[in-house]
Amino acid sequence: MSLQNPVFIPGPTNIPEAIRKACDMPTIDHRSPMFAQILHPALAGVRDVMGQSQGETFIFPASGTGGWESAIANTLSPGDTVLAARNGMFSHKWIDMCQRFGLEVIQVDVAWGLGLPVDQFEEILRADTAGKIKAVLATHNETATGVVSDIAGLRRAMNAASHDALLLVDGVSSIGSMPFAFDDWAVDVAVTGSQKGFMLPAGLAIVGFSEKAVAASKTAGLPRTFFSIDDMRKGYAANAYPYTPAVGLMNGLKHATEMLLEEGMDAVYARHARIASGVRAAVGAWGLSLCAQAPELYSNTVTAIRTPEGFNASRIVEHAATQYGMAFGTGLGDVAGKVFRIGHLGSMTDAMALSGIAVAEMVMTDLGLDITLGSGVAAAQGVYRQGATATRMAAE
Ligand SMILES: *Cc1c(COP(=O)(O)O)cnc(C)c1O
Repeated sequence: MSLQNPVFIPGPTNIPEAIRKACDMPTIDHRSPMFAQILHPALAGVRDVMGQSQGETFIFPASGTGGWESAIANTLSPGDTVLAARNGMFSHKWIDMCQRFGLEVIQVDVAWGLGLPVDQFEEILRADTAGKIKAVLATHNETATGVVSDIAGLRRAMNAASHDALLLVDGVSSIGSMPFAFDDWAVDVAVTGSQKGFMLPAGLAIVGFSEKAVAASKTAGLPRTFFSIDDMRKGYAANAYPYTPAVGLMNGLKHATEMLLEEGMDAVYARHARIASGVRAAVGAWGLSLCAQAPELYSNTVTAIRTPEGFNASRIVEHAATQYGMAFGTGLGDVAGKVFRIGHLGSMTDAMALSGIAVAEMVMTDLGLDITLGSGVAAAQGVYRQGATATRMAAE
């Protein structure tokens, strides 16, 4: 691996120099007014990025997985029933966590490459006239397969079924990179981590709770200590934490939200969409197919690419690392060996994406796949030049 190359794994993502510097700070007293000047702007910035104006937001020293745990432990009670789809490694692991918490999971198995089955969820919710289902779990962007699910549609389905379950959304690989609308989609708990769209090292779980989720926490019976939002709220009221916060990362997060909001979330989303469509154009030029089975499912943060039958896709990741010092994402779980992934979220430009595409095609050619050198790069260049022309024309 070369430290000079960008990474193309779907998290942790590349860290802009300014954010790295913001994380690197001397020790301060985390119970002093100086910490308040980091904590409150970081919270406000995160809320703006995910479109949350109501409810409360919490930042735990943890990873995205800790965010899942905080969502469950604060809103549910032992034995509660939840509804979830399994369509990739991340939705699988969240379900596994629910089971370890002693929750009853209605698990809908979906092909890896498809999104959350909104219509089927609506039927299940309609049939639940007794209101047994307390929460619907949704993985907005399945990072293992490069599939985005329709959270707005899921909310409409929940409303159409007149079901009042909480909507818990894993936005770990979408928030800050793909449109996410906490208020508009009436999300009850949104979970993300610091190392994806926020371009930071891993170490923070960022979790938004709606007013409804906060109200549910008052009677939720699952035990929680480290992830207690009640303890965290009391800490915030005193400009502190119930324990020691990750101060440098929090300062980095404050800067990251400033960077994103300064670029403008619409521009951030457009940049991710453009870079992703260049990557997909390259995949098409290589004659390969995506794991995601339809265009409306295509993720703008990660592309999972199927390799020909009988070829172990993990060899691409290994060879790229050893031969060219570049990191791509390997296949996980049910699609291990069948796909490799190009992560293209966070601090990413058209030019960076071109370098990843160029290396990927050298790797595949080295390994004997029938790829024409330069074909993917040319296809992506076509997309990126169009984007540049559109930007130039808008400026004139
Ligand atoms: C990365 C990721 C996670 C897990 O986050 P960790 O920070 O590794 O705990 C959860 N869900 C999705 C969709 C992810 O991409």
